[in-house]
Amino acid sequence: MTDHQEDKKEKRSLNFIHAFVEEDLREGRNDGRVHTRFPPEPNGYLHIGHAKAIHIDFGTAEKYGGKCNLRFDDTNPVKEDVEYIDSIREDIHWLGYDWGDREYFASDYFDNLYEFATDLIRKDLAYVDEQSSEQIASQKGTPSDAGKESPFRNRPAEESLDLFKRMNSGEFEEGKCVLRAKIDMTASNMHMRDPVIYRIIHHPHHRTGSKWKVYPMYDFAHGQCDYYEGITHSLCTLEFEVHRPLYDWFVDQLKKDDYRPRQIEFNRLNITYMVMSKRKLLQMVKEGVVDGWDDPRMPTLSGLRRRGYTPESVKNFINSIGYTKVEALNDFSLLEFAVREDLNKKAPRVMAVLDPLKVTITNYPEGKTEELETINNPEDETMGSRNIPFSREIYIERSDFMEDPPRKFFRLGPGREVRLKSAYVIRCDDFKKDENGNVTELLCTYDETTKSGADTSGKKVKGTLHWVSALHAVKAEVRLYDRLFNDPDPDGHKDRDFMDFLNPDSLKVVTGYVEPGLAAAKVLDHFQFQRIGYFNLDPDSKPGALVFNRTVPLRDNWSKKG
Ligand code: ATP
Ligand code: MG
Repeated sequence: MTDHQEDKKEKRSLNFIHAFVEEDLREGRNDGRVHTRFPPEPNGYLHIGHAKAIHIDFGTAEKYGGKCNLRFDDTNPVKEDVEYIDSIREDIHWLGYDWGDREYFASDYFDNLYEFATDLIRKDLAYVDEQSSEQIASQKGTPSDAGKESPFRNRPAEESLDLFKRMNSGEFEEGKCVLRAKIDMTASNMHMRDPVIYRIIHHPHHRTGSKWKVYPMYDFAHGQCDYYEGITHSLCTLEFEVHRPLYDWFVDQLKKDDYRPRQIEFNRLNITYMVMSKRKLLQMVKEGVVDGWDDPRMPTLSGLRRRGYTPESVKNFINSIGYTKVEALNDFSLLEFAVREDLNKKAPRVMAVLDPLKVTITNYPEGKTEELETINNPEDETMGSRNIPFSREIYIERSDFMEDPPRKFFRLGPGREVRLKSAYVIRCDDFKKDENGNVTELLCTYDETTKSGADTSGKKVKGTLHWVSALHAVKAEVRLYDRLFNDPDPDGHKDRDFMDFLNPDSLKVVTGYVEPGLAAAKVLDHFQFQRIGYFNLDPDSKPGALVFNRTVPLRDNWSKKG
């Protein structure tokens, strides 16, 4: 590469977020520190949208020799669960990132936040409002009409302080009153119209137990937590752009120095044929539409991992679409392309027949077995080769035979010849049918001089089929996964629920035959079932009862469906 090309490549790979970070570094801000954080709310499993956030949070820290914290935003004890915390840790590690000893919880700062809230009350910048949430909402106004001030807005600080303490001692029921910041009911930014900053919740918290009866709102915790942790670049999705003035306002009241986290927003990841909100994913889990958070059809990282997607393919996909300021809906096919591209390099080619049709090779000696050598991956010589058994009875794919094939069908038909991959050329002499007219068996002959790698016949055949030896093949359950929704934008219909668009064919289970070596496969091992697609071994698999998942078909069938 020339210097010029290097330069261009570097510029292209410098997304706008990294351009901001470099600007800060150039101008000497934050003493040259780069410190980011990933702040999931532990109210569900991470999905591929989160991977986009994780990749920029941890990736930016990595690129500039900085640090990235993991901070669980556990401000709502009602929705949060330890199961989610464990899964989040596992998924970040799977993507190849690590937060070292910097694992924090918003609840670590509950004391600071409570203290800060009482400071605001003392400075007459917060007050306890005893109206109902409906009343408060009705006074919010609209972006073009100013809101109405609460009748409690100007109550003495002493009164609010006393009430806030009593809110926290459990004296009031939930919803009885809230603490609001006193900012500006006429602000054009609705978030600045005296936002609620604390509410009463009587549900125990998974970390602080029943110590607190009041909990900070997410908006009152997030910016301050960034500040407490010395975060320099707070990267988040575009919907938080309108919250930024509020976060800045809180930090302005709090800070005693020049430092302030810089929030930079980027576009959310949306993918066709998927829904990505944790609330909706939870609904699908609860209603049993899918088989748990790690169902291979789910967009969760645990689902994608189980389905056979690799962290590299997820990151390559994210890099290919990039980070911008414009919301977009990305094509599922792009993600599948990245998965194929990565697995093409990594997955050994193996033989599996998913819809078996028996073939008897009538001139092959009964009881004879040959070991035939076949290479593991033409893309990677270092993956070597292995032997597969060949015998008189084999299975081929039912769709590879036609009784009355058209001229361009380069597979089997009466009198036609094909090559069996890594084996011989066979000719179909005859076939048998059952009483319903279904073909039950092909009778073929093989030509000994056509052995792969030692072919002296000079024969030219157009088609090559995969096959397994009937005597040696191992039965396996094969789960053929497809898109969970059959509409490209299940969330995008005003008067229809996303659940209306579930794809009834998103899972088809078949019994297939795989070459005997696969009995030794380990859970999550990847394979290319030749001519079919990429598959992996599912955790449900047991010795003697193999279960494979289809990760992605070899070709993109959906683009054709249009
Ligand atoms: P959801 O809407 O799916 O429930 P969330 O935004 O509520 O997601 P959080 O746990 O609060 O989920 O998100 C943690 C971080 O991940 C946030 O910084 C958020 O901006 C980011 N994030 C969430 N969804 C996406 C997405 N689809 N694309 C990119 N980043 C996302
Ligand atoms: Mg959230």
